[in-house]
Amino acid sequence: MGQAKNRGTQAERVAQALAKIEAKRPEKLVCNSCGADVTQVNPVSTRGLRGLESIWVGHCDCGHTTFAASGEPQAVEAFFHAISQDTELTLASQAQDGSGYSKA
Ligand SMILES: [Zn+2]
Repeated sequence: MGQAKNRGTQAERVAQALAKIEAKRPEKLVCNSCGADVTQVNPVSTRGLRGLESIWVGHCDCGHTTFAASGEPQAVEAFFHAISQDTELTLASQAQDGSGYSKA
């Protein structure tokens, strides 16, 4: 009857979005400062950030903050470029499982 396709309630859509983000959670994050495993990793909203699927911020025991982002390579690059403007950052890349860590 000309009804819009049912895409679920807003709560369902939010849950789906969260599940999508959680699927991208790094299994571990390596501190860019001391190289230790960062255990406290929290998701950051990517709202308004085109091309980015997820952003993670990890707080290491040494006091250093490490960011991780996934999504389109150009968007990830732009994100790190943007946050490196006003903070001293050491950039590195790694796979989601924490392997292949290398400093940029
Ligand atoms: Zn550290």
